[in-house]
Amino acid sequence: MSSFNKLVEAAQAAQSRAYAPYSHYLVGAAILGADGQIYTGCNVENVSYGLTVCAERVAIGQMVTAGCRAIKEVVVVTRDGGTPCGMCRQTLAEFTSMPEQVVVTCLNAEGEAKRWPLSALLPEAFRSEVGPNLRPTNIPND
Ligand SMILES: [Zn+2]
Repeated sequence: MSSFNKLVEAAQAAQSRAYAPYSHYLVGAAILGADGQIYTGCNVENVSYGLTVCAERVAIGQMVTAGCRAIKEVVVVTRDGGTPCGMCRQTLAEFTSMPEQVVVTCLNAEGEAKRWPLSALLPEAFRSEVGPNLRPTNIPND
């Protein structure tokens, strides 16, 4: 199985576990980390709607927790091929220095895919001179 198909399968499995009792909009995300591992997430809604976390950010949390800090590819599965929200686009941009090389593929329930480089989904992403390689020195074990 190709790495892309593995990502699709992983995203679909994550989508099946989405907690979306309010919107019923199930989202699954799979991220290929720079370490070659696949990290997944589903959306996790909350009765206090603003506390809802998107599938993409859950997957990023899984990746960072595992010790990986760079993304190579992203697959998002929804019923209608929805694209990552703005907050997730910025969160994904945090974990690459080459957004033009990170392909984001969005699939609908029929498996139809649309793809973009992350740089097209979020042109001119916010960046700071305090980049990820210039971490504060007060972070333990870093
Ligand atoms: Zn989002």
